[in-house]
Amino acid sequence: MSASTTSLTLKGHDILFPPLPYDMHARADLATGDDQLQRFINNATLSKDLQRREVCAQTFGDNYDAMRSLAAEIKQHTLDHLDHYLEQFVDAATGTGAHVHFAATAQQANEICVGIAKREKLTQCVKSKSMVTEEMRLVPALVKVGVEVVETDLGEFIIQIDDDAPSHIVAPMIHKDRTAVARAFERELGSPYTENPQELTQIARNHLREKYRTADLGICGANFLVARTGSAVICTNEGNGRLCTSVPRVQVAIVGIEKLVPDMNHLAVLLKLLARSSLGQPITVYNHIMTGPKRKHELDGPEQMHIILVDNGRTEILREETREMLRCIRCGACLNACPVYRKLGGHAYGAVYSGPIGALITPMFKGLDKYPDLPHASSLCGACYEACPVKINIPKYLIQLRAQMVRRRITKWPDRLFYGLWGMSLRHPATYRFGGWVQKQMFRAKARAAGTAGRGDRYTDRGWLSKAPGPLAGWTRARDLPTPPSNSFRYWWKMRS
Ligand code: SF4
Repeated sequence: MSASTTSLTLKGHDILFPPLPYDMHARADLATGDDQLQRFINNATLSKDLQRREVCAQTFGDNYDAMRSLAAEIKQHTLDHLDHYLEQFVDAATGTGAHVHFAATAQQANEICVGIAKREKLTQCVKSKSMVTEEMRLVPALVKVGVEVVETDLGEFIIQIDDDAPSHIVAPMIHKDRTAVARAFERELGSPYTENPQELTQIARNHLREKYRTADLGICGANFLVARTGSAVICTNEGNGRLCTSVPRVQVAIVGIEKLVPDMNHLAVLLKLLARSSLGQPITVYNHIMTGPKRKHELDGPEQMHIILVDNGRTEILREETREMLRCIRCGACLNACPVYRKLGGHAYGAVYSGPIGALITPMFKGLDKYPDLPHASSLCGACYEACPVKINIPKYLIQLRAQMVRRRITKWPDRLFYGLWGMSLRHPATYRFGGWVQKQMFRAKARAAGTAGRGDRYTDRGWLSKAPGPLAGWTRARDLPTPPSNSFRYWWKMRS
């Protein structure tokens, strides 16, 4: 099976916007059976996770945890007083000459953006990477009214011409290699086939330069909004964000309301953590702070700057019990640290946000009944919590979502029956012992029949099952299951004491 299996069967936005309720199993099976995909994702996430640890240890040493607490406090404080900081931001941004719009839903945000394009007769758009615009499905909305939209982040550009979908918050084409890029460039741009990274970059650069020169609309997201100065901040490593926001005549920044920070001092703390957590870099190459449109005495910059502040379900999460989730600065560290994401990649999550944070906020944004598998797409090992620079306790909230599923009877009846019986056996030691004994006999007999029974002493004589029965079948679809040894842990414990 090739790395692009998911892309071959599904195209572009269908990957991120599947029919609902979403059943994750089919895509998880595809991903776990795809050796190449597993290799790409595993190598990339492991190296990024290692780099994050090393750079954070070098920079912060023993203060790393204190730094994360500080960042968490900054974000939490801003969210606790979001009404105040939103007002402050709007006053300051308006004072610089920017136009600020509010959108309660994704559709409203699209309408505002499309309205600006129509009113100003804009037809050529260059766009920098932005998760909220993916969430809104902005590109199809603009294309529908005749605006040509070109993604300018290199990864996003490749995804766009390949009619694929991003699979990582920070590294959208983590599931592709240079062969896939070379083929896409040859097919879509008519360039000679090459797998040389410098030559591939040059091809993209030549193509995009022309787009920047002719664009009349620049669209970006923002990593942060600074309330005191009314600034929008974008962090990129390619410089494309700067070109998108300074060359075209009209600039539109589309940003979730949770991206606010009080002032530049707070921004500095978060910028330090963002770069180190996302790519293990000491600092992002381009930190671009935009404060209003071009002034009279300035040569460069947009004539008009619009900022669209998007809610789209965020105020629902803002209630006290779940507010912490909105601290997320979209660094992607939790994805790199997560053993489940490393196995599946982003497309298996069937939504714009993948990995642990996606498993958490997608059901919150779109409804738990629409994404019932996502709260279970975690081993609850806590690696995401440890990696998170703003200390979002993802495992805690995933457990809460699972409990909600049981309360609201969203959990499927076979699962309810299975866990009900399991719970009952845990409450009654005799039933538990009997159940364990039956399971042991059954598994060991199956291993013997399959000729995979272990040979060893009574503690290490475990065999292997490649096809487990009932609800355990899912486990053995991608790996073997060890059988219990002939003597149980309880027996060993009793003999030892
Ligand atoms: S939850 Fe934390 S680690 Fe994950 S993307 Fe958000 S800020 Fe980064």
